[in-house]
Amino acid sequence: MNVEFVARRVRLSTRVTDLVETKLAKLEKVLPQAAQGRVVIQREKLGVTVEITITARQRTFSATEVAQDQEAATHAALERSTLLRRFAPLLGMAAAAVGSPQIRARGTVGGNVMNAATCADTVPALVALGARLTLQSAAGRRALPIAEFFVKPYVTVARPDEVLTDVEFPALPADARSAFVKLGRRNALAIARLSVAAVVRRGPDGRVVEARIVPGAALPVWKRVTAAEALLVGEAPTPERLAAAGRQVAEVMVGETGRRWSTEYKEPVVAALARRALEACCAGPAGGAS
Ligand SMILES: Cc1cc2nc3c(=O)[nH]c(=O)nc-3n(C[C@H](O)[C@H](O)[C@H](O)COP(=O)(O)OP(=O)(O)OC[C@H]3O[C@@H](n4cnc5c(N)ncnc54)[C@H](O)[C@@H]3O)c2cc1C
Repeated sequence: MNVEFVARRVRLSTRVTDLVETKLAKLEKVLPQAAQGRVVIQREKLGVTVEITITARQRTFSATEVAQDQEAATHAALERSTLLRRFAPLLGMAAAAVGSPQIRARGTVGGNVMNAATCADTVPALVALGARLTLQSAAGRRALPIAEFFVKPYVTVARPDEVLTDVEFPALPADARSAFVKLGRRNALAIARLSVAAVVRRGPDGRVVEARIVPGAALPVWKRVTAAEALLVGEAPTPERLAAAGRQVAEVMVGETGRRWSTEYKEPVVAALARRALEACCAGPAGGAS
């Protein structure tokens, strides 16, 4: 079984051949360092399309095979991947936040998704990335957007005879910045009380072109908080606006889950985490990829 992270059609921003070649040379140096990476670079007549596939074997269910399997799509592999750092940094950040080095060395992204715990760290990042999942059974394969995969905590649309074989998502555009922030009871070996994955793209004038905000452990199922995203698009990411977007995330959470004993704590915390994730995305000049 393979779990594939496909960052496709990364279009380099130049048509000038020698610049393209220089960029490719740089890219070729960086890409093979990616954990279990496989890189396909297609040179086209006009410009260059680079297709990058990170392939990692999902662990098998036999203990012996697991022990022998050096290519599992583990959190540690994602955390180390230079490819993710470049094209989907928030997923590497989320993987790095899972448990402890021991858990990250053995736990896989496939298990994290299939487990469907509300506190799963990689899922908000995968939802923000617009991932597609492929499920395989003896009856055949089917693929679906991750946003349609979860029914409620610990329940997915996967049938008992299906295994998750592929997780695929497009590379973030070059002008995107992303972040994953998590609050646990401790800094390590603690599940998320709350988390937020965010992606922000800004135009040359610094205004927000696109925002994606996905809280974790906040809603019955993971999804983008479009009401908060809409507050940002077309606007300058001022501290007040980022804080307003954070408050909107909290408002949506309370609207969907109702007021509980934990709301007094969770409401300001999720607002602050969303604001911090957005601040991290908007730090520095517009247009940089990170
Ligand atoms: C001490 C400790 C700390 C932890 N901390 C965190 C944390 O901070 N953040 C976090 O997100 N998680 C945490 N976890 C939970 C867990 O380690 C992760 O969810 C991990 O990613 C699970 O992956 P796994 O490969 O070990 O899956 P498993 O635990 O082996 O499997 C989980 C479930 O998914 C099913 N499954 C696994 N792979 C597939 C597949 N490919 N297709 C179909 N079904 C599949 C299994 O049958 C099982 O039902 C922690 C766990 C422990 C024990």
